[in-house]
Amino acid sequence: SRADITYFGAGPALLPTSVLEEASQALLNYKDTGLGIAEHSHRSQYAADIINQAKSDLTTYLDIPEDYEILFMQGGGTGEFSATVYNLVGAWVTRKKAEILKQLGAQSEEEANQEELVTALKKAVDTELKLDYLVTGGWSLKAYQEAGRLLGPEYTNLATDSRTVNEGKFGKIPDESTWKLSKNAAMVYYCDNETVDGVEFPKFPDTLIPDSNGEGPIVVADMSSNILSRRIPVKNFSAIFFGAQKNLGSTGVTVVIIKKSLLPPACPQPSPALMRKLGLPVPPIVFSYETVAKNNSLYNTLSIFDVYIAGQVLKKLLATFPDKVDGQQAVADQKADIIYKALEAHPNVYRIVPDKSVRSRMNICFRVTINNDTDGTEARFLKEATAVGLTGLKGHRSVGGIRASNYNSIPLAGAQKLADFINNFAQA
Ligand code: PMP
Repeated sequence: SRADITYFGAGPALLPTSVLEEASQALLNYKDTGLGIAEHSHRSQYAADIINQAKSDLTTYLDIPEDYEILFMQGGGTGEFSATVYNLVGAWVTRKKAEILKQLGAQSEEEANQEELVTALKKAVDTELKLDYLVTGGWSLKAYQEAGRLLGPEYTNLATDSRTVNEGKFGKIPDESTWKLSKNAAMVYYCDNETVDGVEFPKFPDTLIPDSNGEGPIVVADMSSNILSRRIPVKNFSAIFFGAQKNLGSTGVTVVIIKKSLLPPACPQPSPALMRKLGLPVPPIVFSYETVAKNNSLYNTLSIFDVYIAGQVLKKLLATFPDKVDGQQAVADQKADIIYKALEAHPNVYRIVPDKSVRSRMNICFRVTINNDTDGTEARFLKEATAVGLTGLKGHRSVGGIRASNYNSIPLAGAQKLADFINNFAQA
């Protein structure tokens, strides 16, 4: 039964049983309306209330400042690899255009000599537009490749690549002093926790911290696999995104936390006509942050059921942890510590894949070798773990090995059970 299983899958992940029990009722008959939550209109007051409550609870839980907007989108983390490119390139063009208009002495775009404006902008695009990527694992690599695919690789800058300092593999983060950041990049993009490679940034990078006036690089982060598990300095980011299916809820909704200064009225996206003149891509409307923001995430039919689940998880987190994300962080750290200590106690059997300095608290990746046999030992490890109810431990197909995804819904007792199994397996 469900109670016998601790599921360590990398996503979709375990959801709290109490949330699912309530959700099963809500699917049948929401608030005694005779209709389920997946059937009610996304234009209903019920839907609006669910969205607004989830936004408010997320804001409370993470202490999101007032000058940020929360968007619920579709398309997953993968959709955001594209959306970030479209929207942040658009924002860069808007900033550049304002600069050029000033140089041309024009009060507005309409007032400027159009040919002069487009020529100057095109020159800026050709010579200055860059998107910086810190590639520290498979997911940031995919995001970097998507930017190259959409824009052309000449606009992307591989500011750092972990594989260059770790024998061609992911598992370390190069020293910040070696990062080659562009001047005024449209964004500096990184993945805070690499789900496949088990690499997590230990903290917000020093070189990207804004100055005392709040001025700094435009930083965008993928937090799909570690959101809600530790405190984040939201004010340092221009945008943060994450799919819901690991630490927040069910698959089908992607959250974007975005600084309002990147949205209208401060920063309207350039017109499609101008983008075409500049040879730059125009975002599909469902990926346009300004369109989604303008419509409180209801430009098109959003899965309100998925927002509802996320909202219930947030409500549970807020009820469990009076000190909000700090409380969850303490538990997440403790769970990771228990599992890593068990692995470290048997160095002749277990090899933790990433470097200690960047080990993920969420995705614990290791290899198991006994008598020089890794493949056979890992197969036995997985089989014996499954037999005692520890499931979902197989590493990602691209890297093999074992991966314990230690997301928020894994209880402390579940992490302890895995640690005990790790100890027993090595001693058998
Ligand atoms: N980023 C990270 C860090 C991920 O772990 C994943 C999925 N596991 C993705 C992006 C892609 O998300 P999706 O499958 O929702 O597109």
